[in-house]
Amino acid sequence: MIASRRLISNCLPFYSFGMERDSKGLAIVIKSTKIRERDRLLTLFSPSLGIVNAVSYGARKSIKGIKAPLYTEGTFSLEKGRGGMTLKDIDVISTHDALLEDLDSAQSAMLFSDLILTARSSEPELYALYTAALDALESESFEKVSVEFLVHFLSLEGISGDYTTCPICGKDYDKAEILGFSSSEGVPVCHDCDTMNGALLLPPNARAYLKRSLELDFQDSLDLHVSEEQEHRIFRYLLRTLPFSFPGKLRSLEYGIWRI
Ligand SMILES: [Zn+2]
Repeated sequence: MIASRRLISNCLPFYSFGMERDSKGLAIVIKSTKIRERDRLLTLFSPSLGIVNAVSYGARKSIKGIKAPLYTEGTFSLEKGRGGMTLKDIDVISTHDALLEDLDSAQSAMLFSDLILTARSSEPELYALYTAALDALESESFEKVSVEFLVHFLSLEGISGDYTTCPICGKDYDKAEILGFSSSEGVPVCHDCDTMNGALLLPPNARAYLKRSLELDFQDSLDLHVSEEQEHRIFRYLLRTLPFSFPGKLRSLEYGIWRI
């Protein structure tokens, strides 16, 4: 039995699975940190186990090393020992190699991982979104995938904007209305409720695109057609509003390669 699917605190080095000695389940390596010369501490994101830390021992005389690079998805077999969980085996589904070959795709994947780990969310719906977004990064533009990931992530977290009605005054937006932004609420608002002096404006066509994205599931939203320039503007808008919308510090953006 799994007591809870949520990680209670990042301070806990290992997740407890009750009395079970071994665990096996679908998971993806969402973070990988080098510890000692040949070993790594893997943070696994699993729809059934939540967020789990496990040590992956590098090859040495007595142990056969198992490689599990960042973003490897598969069925992970973990063994519970005195020091915590150890990776025993993986049945690999995807290694997402292509993500690390392109700087922008790698930065997108880093942002997605950062959002999930900072939000400390591990619901199965989020796992489906995260892995689908990593898959999509291998073939679609990083800006399109990032826009749709952010729209759906914020929606799952319950902090998405409302593109029909102003959440402050309750007024329905006009078709041609340009929205402002509320820095305290972290969402777009009508012109009268704007607190940013027009610094974060959302034009009607971009608003219609975000509204339509929210109505579709992630996979279908990738089929929405929009020009590259428009995609770029919406991408920049979401990245600029993210620090107001998301209540956590995002190191991936702060120290990342994108200048927003
Ligand atoms: Zn308003």
